[in-house]
Amino acid sequence: MDRFKVEVIAQTPNPQQTIYAAMHQDYAEGFVWDEQDRWPDEAESGALVIKHLLKGGRGHYGPLEHPQIVLNCGWFPHSTMQQIRTHRVGVSFDVQSFRYTGSRITDAAKGLKSVEEVFYLRPAGFYSDRQGKRYEYTQAQRQEDLEWCATACRRYQARIQQGFSEEHARGLVPFDVRQHWVLSANVRSLMHLLDLRWKADAQLEAQKLCEHIWPHFKAWTPEIAQWYEENRLKKARLAP
Ligand SMILES: Cc1cc2nc3c(=O)[nH]c(=O)nc-3n(C[C@H](O)[C@H](O)[C@H](O)COP(=O)(O)OP(=O)(O)OC[C@H]3O[C@@H](n4cnc5c(N)ncnc54)[C@H](O)[C@@H]3O)c2cc1C
Repeated sequence: MDRFKVEVIAQTPNPQQTIYAAMHQDYAEGFVWDEQDRWPDEAESGALVIKHLLKGGRGHYGPLEHPQIVLNCGWFPHSTMQQIRTHRVGVSFDVQSFRYTGSRITDAAKGLKSVEEVFYLRPAGFYSDRQGKRYEYTQAQRQEDLEWCATACRRYQARIQQGFSEEHARGLVPFDVRQHWVLSANVRSLMHLLDLRWKADAQLEAQKLCEHIWPHFKAWTPEIAQWYEENRLKKARLAP
């Protein structure tokens, strides 16, 4: 769907071993760093973490907070960014505020960028409101809304030309302007984010964000991701 994208900027290289080392230090007499040559490999560490920390909902999730992944999320609507930013424990964000620049809005006004590249509108099709009532978003309505966005871009450009600051003119921009952001999370906070934003009543585009995050999580912590898939994915469980 759409042009949404999530890429990895950086990640802890041996995340499951890192969690294992933290867990092991909870009960080891020695200094765990000294025992690196005896640490289980990544896959076995993942299996031990599942057995001792995740299985059975013991609530001992602290060791999962050490490994970090840094993701670049792109072309999502502003509303999705707003929703994802409500997660504030173990998650950090950087996103353009439109206070200092908004040149892609003026580029759209000048025809240098397409309106679709700068604004997100849902695809034409059938949707439901919050009460479950179905309605159609027609291709013709979508075209009218694209024109609405183009008109707003021209108004933004006019106000900038009249000397307005970007932080003043940004108020004229339609709500679902596309935004890119950098998000960092640890294994625990990322699973919590997926719990809340991949469930069926989360906003459609937030669910799409989770779909794009998922392959990176799976490649990074395969055993933990498999456990998550079998036990939590889309089940609306609210911890860890
Ligand atoms: C479907 C859906 C609809 C929503 N609609 C709205 C809406 O209309 N308007 C709106 O403003 N928000 C809305 N939210 C956001 C929601 O209220 C939470 O702010 C958001 O989901 C952040 O999740 P979290 O509380 O789990 O915090 P996270 O930052 O993800 O924190 C993780 C966990 O840490 C603990 N924690 C974090 N902060 C505190 C704290 N201050 N005190 C005690 N414990 C804490 C909790 O156990 C929490 O679950 C919606 C969320 C969802 C999933």
